[in-house]
Amino acid sequence: MKSKAYRLTFYIIVFMVCVWQSGGKVQQDLTGEYARQINKLSYQLDYYDTYSPVFSPYSIDDLQAVNTNETQEKKMIYLTFDDGPSPRTEEILDILKKYDIKATFFVIKTKDEYIPFMKRAVEEGHTIGVHSYSHKYNEIYRSVDAYLDDFTKCYNYIYDNTGYKPEIYRFPGGSVNNYNAATRRDIVAEMSRRGYIYFDWNVESNDSSRGKDATSIYNSVINGCKGKSRAIIIFHDSTSKKSTVQALENIIITLKEDGWQFAALDNEVKPVIFRMK
Ligand SMILES: [Zn+2]
Repeated sequence: MKSKAYRLTFYIIVFMVCVWQSGGKVQQDLTGEYARQINKLSYQLDYYDTYSPVFSPYSIDDLQAVNTNETQEKKMIYLTFDDGPSPRTEEILDILKKYDIKATFFVIKTKDEYIPFMKRAVEEGHTIGVHSYSHKYNEIYRSVDAYLDDFTKCYNYIYDNTGYKPEIYRFPGGSVNNYNAATRRDIVAEMSRRGYIYFDWNVESNDSSRGKDATSIYNSVINGCKGKSRAIIIFHDSTSKKSTVQALENIIITLKEDGWQFAALDNEVKPVIFRMK
């Protein structure tokens, strides 16, 4: 009896110390699914604030099994813009507004003077996803901790400036890149535990290649959408991407004529993701 009481007291003290150590951030929502999976790895105790209140319905194996080419009734287009906010964001938002289209912006830390554009995107009903704070591949993919640190900074940058809580994210360079071979599985596993869904893409606008003009961007997108029933298109939203903005309106007009419907991504849209080798 006595030893049981001692043990119980010991556990209570350990728990209190843990709560105290974490600055009182051990939250009530760490129950059920979270509680069973947590505490196995040291980094799971970090960044409690970036555990999404919505648990991801997809495990890492589910994500790998997603068939990106399965047929569905409506042909759906998801326009996505990486690397903003930038001076181009406003021009993109004007076009989206004109055609009453919702899209997705995967943002990074850029100049503070561009923050109002990110706010406007939120106000106009677009989705904001986490892309990266530093966007430095050689730093963020070094370890799970390094990734979580960068993710959390970007998450807080979005939340603190807009009040919006992101639920989806996109890896810089895509989920399979030359910098994350050693860490990608662990990063995805931890991010899935945290309740976040990531999206790669299945249509390239090729606007990140140097010297691409509006016509070649237009052709990349229109050709890339052919034969698909779901297209997640990657564009870039940065100061130099004037051609992207120039191509966007014609892309929208053509795709609308072809019967595509447009929507913003959210955590209920089945992800398009690259296969991990
Ligand atoms: Zn990027």
